[in-house]
Amino acid sequence: MNSQIDKRILIAGAGLAGLTTALALADRGFSVLIMEKALALSEVGAGLQLAPNATRLLERLGVMEDLLPQAVSPDALYLMDGVKAQPLMRMELGARAAQRWQAPYITCHRADLQAALLKAVRRQPLITLHLGANVLSHHVMADKVTIRVDLNDQITDYSGQLLLGCDGVWSAQRSNLAVAGQSAPDQNRARFTNHIAWRTTLPVTQVPQNFLSSLKDNLSVSAWLGHGAHLIAYPIKNGEAYNFVAITDGEDIGTSWDLKGDSAALIRSFTGWSQAVTDVLKAAPQWTFWPMFQMPEPKMVIDKRFVLLGDASHAMTPFAAQGAAMAVEDAASLAAHLSPEQTDHSSALAAFERQRLARIAKVARRGQLNRIAYHAGGPLALGRNLLFKLRKPESFLHDLDWLYQYDAADIKS
Ligand SMILES: Cc1cc2nc3c(=O)[nH]c(=O)nc-3n(C[C@H](O)[C@H](O)[C@H](O)COP(=O)(O)OP(=O)(O)OC[C@H]3O[C@@H](n4cnc5c(N)ncnc54)[C@H](O)[C@@H]3O)c2cc1C
Repeated sequence: MNSQIDKRILIAGAGLAGLTTALALADRGFSVLIMEKALALSEVGAGLQLAPNATRLLERLGVMEDLLPQAVSPDALYLMDGVKAQPLMRMELGARAAQRWQAPYITCHRADLQAALLKAVRRQPLITLHLGANVLSHHVMADKVTIRVDLNDQITDYSGQLLLGCDGVWSAQRSNLAVAGQSAPDQNRARFTNHIAWRTTLPVTQVPQNFLSSLKDNLSVSAWLGHGAHLIAYPIKNGEAYNFVAITDGEDIGTSWDLKGDSAALIRSFTGWSQAVTDVLKAAPQWTFWPMFQMPEPKMVIDKRFVLLGDASHAMTPFAAQGAAMAVEDAASLAAHLSPEQTDHSSALAAFERQRLARIAKVARRGQLNRIAYHAGGPLALGRNLLFKLRKPESFLHDLDWLYQYDAADIKS
């Protein structure tokens, strides 16, 4: 291998994990080649909440400057009784969050984050990005890893010292492990969670007034809770639009993040909820239907030349709103562990994986807890509501310190 290729790091996928990891590694002096199968990085996805544990890392990579004008820093987070349309809990965000966790809590559109990341990638001479590049397979050897790529209908091989599988929840790189006999097929395929995410975006002028007036702060994140379902709402696009995500039980209908949903079925799932909620459900001309998957067993370092990151490693349910944040943390942590001077990354990768898997498991547990609290009914819901009433607002902030204060680039933690 020539020495340039020798040092190069290959990335499959230019989603949030792939782009952020490329930036973090280039900052450390690595040269990076990203292969993305899409012909263009388009408006795929919907809104994202980005908590301080992610924004502090994006700030360091120079991404926030381009993202902030498109984003919103919400004043507060509400948990609402979805039937009575009354607040169960209000937690202050805005300046209070930025001060407490030394980084802002923001909401944005996924496409705006991807565009800001892409802009930073284009500024970085150490990164090469190929679009229309479908990574078909990989082959690990003692001194290098090679990927076979369909690049605009031409099959070409590329080599590097490491391959990072950042190809999302339906990762072909991860599924290939089963083919190669490295583990049982089921462990390497994302599993349906029995939950459906229904997503839509409305211009703020079309958001029903009774919904907005239920919340004291104009710009806020709200989670409307009820038995077996919840609705999340938050402003994006500098406050010009609102993103809505309704989570219900449902059936798996395929592996795409962009299926058109049957609004009548969605509205039926919220029968008996407050008018504020049902008016929102009816106001949107189209809901996108996303069956939700999670990885049965998070895995990162497959061998010394192949690592999985982001959803390909540890896709999780969105109950803690931390999936993208975990991809950003993976990027910062990996870059902090690796150094271009190392010739063998084995021990650095082992330390990286130890730190990340412990953190990811803890965050996933918080998501499970939120799911139980959000979808509770009967006596469990009454107990939850009483607990919210008795607790001081400060205690909700305190409860999140471990999650939002975390700095993934601090490799001693
Ligand atoms: C309903 C819902 C709400 C969510 N809300 C939040 C939230 O509020 N906050 C939060 O932090 N997270 C949230 N998430 C999670 C977040 O969206 C994901 O965790 C995040 O997008 C994962 O990024 P990724 O880069 O790993 O994967 P992706 O963004 O899916 O990117 C994978 C990329 O790989 C490419 N690719 C795939 N196969 C190949 C191949 N063979 N060759 C080359 N390229 C390939 C794809 O085209 C894609 O560009 C939510 C998720 C859902 C479903």
